[in-house]
Amino acid sequence: MTTSPIETLTQQYGNLVPTGRLIDGKPRSILFDATKCIGCRHCVQACKDWNDHDRTSLYELSSTNWITMEPPVLEGLSPLWARNSCMHCNFAACAAVCPVEAITKYEEGPVVINKDVCIGCEYCIHACPWEVITKNDITGKASKCTMCSDRISEDKQPFCVQACPVSALDFGFSEEISDKAKKQAEAIGGYIYGEKEAGGGNVVYVLKEVKEKYGVRNIGAEKFPKHKIPLGLMLKDLFTPRCGIAGKLRALYLAIIHPKRLIYRYFS
Ligand code: SF4
Ligand code: SF4
Ligand code: SF4
Repeated sequence: MTTSPIETLTQQYGNLVPTGRLIDGKPRSILFDATKCIGCRHCVQACKDWNDHDRTSLYELSSTNWITMEPPVLEGLSPLWARNSCMHCNFAACAAVCPVEAITKYEEGPVVINKDVCIGCEYCIHACPWEVITKNDITGKASKCTMCSDRISEDKQPFCVQACPVSALDFGFSEEISDKAKKQAEAIGGYIYGEKEAGGGNVVYVLKEVKEKYGVRNIGAEKFPKHKIPLGLMLKDLFTPRCGIAGKLRALYLAIIHPKRLIYRYFS
């Protein structure tokens, strides 16, 4: 029997991340080519349309805005643009710290939050190296891009990719996307961002200028990087009823069956 990449991953990291399959187990990736992007934000609007989000807050990540285009200046004022959204990490720190298994890494690429399971503890918000998770003020649940996992389940591309008028966004099987990214980076004398950062993920960028000019983060290659959950927050959870008794009992049960997650959460 062949072992899937995710099975290898969970074996290697002691099942730190809950995993699943949407359709066929073949990894897919989004490619963002900054050298083609014109900053029109059609991708941002398309994301809102597909997910029934309101049309406000185009310039900041929020529970109703899962992509921003950086640097955040008004249209037409920047020659350089980069996407800021979930990178759908292979070694998703957000999922590794979630005490109730509300976040799943799917073999096809997406890292998805199940809002019905989320207890709003905010650990994932502090753990994500890109800080792309926000909390919905009304529901108290964590929220971020899903890579259109619902569309991928139907073998369709993410809606942002479909909406890009200049093909600055592309989508396909990860191997093909990686080849395309490599060729484009070579052609323009640029480089790839997202293949190594935090162990890599299913979103890659082709950039030409230094990262700072695009407003993208310098992130090391370490898998499951050190998280930034405040100790006070975790202690509060041990000694107060914050996030509810049902959530605490589920967290306790999962901590017992997956002790490595507990070690990562408290000692990383
Ligand atoms: S970029 Fe952040 S939210 Fe997205 S999978 Fe990685 S750790 Fe999770
Ligand atoms: S807020 Fe807490 S429970 Fe909800 S997804 Fe994030 S880590 Fe999991
Ligand atoms: S739709 Fe395409 S060109 Fe427009 S901002 Fe998004 S990635 Fe850039």
